[in-house]
Amino acid sequence: MQDISRFFPGPPKEMKDGFSCMVWGRQLPVVRGTCNARPGICLNSESEIVIRAPSGFDPKKEANLWNRWLRNLLNKRIQILLEKWQPVMGVAPAEFRLKKMKTRWGSCNTVAKRIWINTVFVHLEPCLLEYVLVHELVHLLEPGHTRRFYQIMEIYLPDWKENDARLNTIELR
Ligand SMILES: [Zn+2]
Repeated sequence: MQDISRFFPGPPKEMKDGFSCMVWGRQLPVVRGTCNARPGICLNSESEIVIRAPSGFDPKKEANLWNRWLRNLLNKRIQILLEKWQPVMGVAPAEFRLKKMKTRWGSCNTVAKRIWINTVFVHLEPCLLEYVLVHELVHLLEPGHTRRFYQIMEIYLPDWKENDARLNTIELR
């Protein structure tokens, strides 16, 4: 089992050299950049994460900065995936929300048509997020894990079992 806490050991209290964060399945080094305007975090040519905050920046504010940045990355990707899958599947959730969950990858309230996605996905390979999102979208067509559910799953993501097996090697905490 891979331990999820390894992917992002939380925002650094005091950022030392060698700090890194897993984003979309890749462990990226975090470097400090100069802060000339508002504090912020960005991906630099997809190969490193640059944090721009003044030295002595409030650790709580820095933790917030990290959380907002990671959620924002995930939100944007889900938005793109929804634009891809909604017309194909002919379903549309009323809303999706991100949530830190310890026992589930995602969930779907089929009555409210609300989909919850685990915030951990920003650390994992994008295909795993896509798998879970499509799984939850299928619930809007078939609420239970019935035979029909898996038949629909098979149509849209024929390789879903591989992704499922990969998720099962990751331990949520
Ligand atoms: Zn399900």
